[in-house]
Amino acid sequence: MKCKRCGSTDIQAIPITYGKIKRRGCLSTLFHVFMTIITLGFWIIVPLIQGGSKGKVKTKIRFVCLNCGKKQ
Ligand SMILES: [Zn+2]
Repeated sequence: MKCKRCGSTDIQAIPITYGKIKRRGCLSTLFHVFMTIITLGFWIIVPLIQGGSKGKVKTKIRFVCLNCGKKQ
């Protein structure tokens, strides 16, 4: 891999984590199960509509040029 700006091959992969760490409590799990039952499973797809990854941590790899600092 080469830097797009300066052509240097001194590129470092940096993992970037983002998102919220959210622990689901016992009560909210029961609520979720309850809602799933009374909505006949519709509740399961609700988080998918809302964006899916609520409360999850995502890791993205970014490549940063050590020569000029350009993020790839
Ligand atoms: Zn560069």
